[in-house]
Amino acid sequence: MTKPTEARPPDWDLGDWEKALTIRVGTAHVCRHCGNLVMVTRGGVGVMELRCCGHVMEQEHLPSRGGKGGQ
Ligand SMILES: [Zn+2]
Repeated sequence: MTKPTEARPPDWDLGDWEKALTIRVGTAHVCRHCGNLVMVTRGGVGVMELRCCGHVMEQEHLPSRGGKGGQ
């Protein structure tokens, strides 16, 4: 065990990283425990890990307005 504990993602290429690090306006994060909802109103690049009730909030995909009604 000579390797230091290096946090290395398995097989992510640059595209995956860009996607993961891009914070999009309109993205919602919801807490499954208390129903708290957080909306992103300013985009950017970075890591966003919202926490509520001691857990990481889940990303919620809201239906976009004016889009094609699938269902
Ligand atoms: Zn909560």
